[in-house]
Amino acid sequence: MNEGTLLIFSAPSGAGKTTLAKMFMEKYPNIQDSVSYTTRARRGIEVEGRDYFFVGIDKFNEMISAGDFLEYATIHGNLYGTSFKFIDDSIKSGKDVLLVIDPQGVSQITERFKGRSIKVFIVAPVDELRKRLLSRAEESIDEINIRLENGKKEICFMCDYDYLVVNDKLDDAFDKVKSIYMAEKLKIKYMNDDDIYKYVGV
Ligand code: 5GP
Repeated sequence: MNEGTLLIFSAPSGAGKTTLAKMFMEKYPNIQDSVSYTTRARRGIEVEGRDYFFVGIDKFNEMISAGDFLEYATIHGNLYGTSFKFIDDSIKSGKDVLLVIDPQGVSQITERFKGRSIKVFIVAPVDELRKRLLSRAEESIDEINIRLENGKKEICFMCDYDYLVVNDKLDDAFDKVKSIYMAEKLKIKYMNDDDIYKYVGV
């Protein structure tokens, strides 16, 4: 059985990674969505186990000590982490997984997944970013300014990624993300002998 691919989207807050991820999951429903653990408070419309697993700091720290996280990071004062077991089981069983994470976590993605991952960094023009953050009205002005400042720092992480997608027009950005995924899946290294013989008609 061929292992699956770990597709990673990261972006400064408001650059559109969540929207692109939703579009991507709709287009490719067989891709698994990884649900992270977080110590952040649940927002009104969020559902436990669908958006996040919401846990206390003690539980999160226990999970760190137990080595339960593939990666974790402190973001805007809260902890967020990805379950190692979920990713490892999915990839082993040949499923592709989409991970939407803060760039701090990407450097922790260990050798185990290096050959199996595609890392995509998504950016948007800064004026556009501010507009989007203001219009979604989920954070105060102070929080928005913190997010914009953090976004500038996150740009430094860009060199850890394989691809850069500028999201000034959503449809164009979506096309680019789909192309990246398709090109990756067509790599011969992901095909097993049976597939190759089938395709070349031997
Ligand atoms: P929010 O609080 O707005 O849902 O998420 C804040 C940031 O945390 C977003 O950039 C989101 O992608 C990131 N994030 C969510 N889950 C994880 C995770 O498991 N690991 C890391 N490194 N970042 C995460």
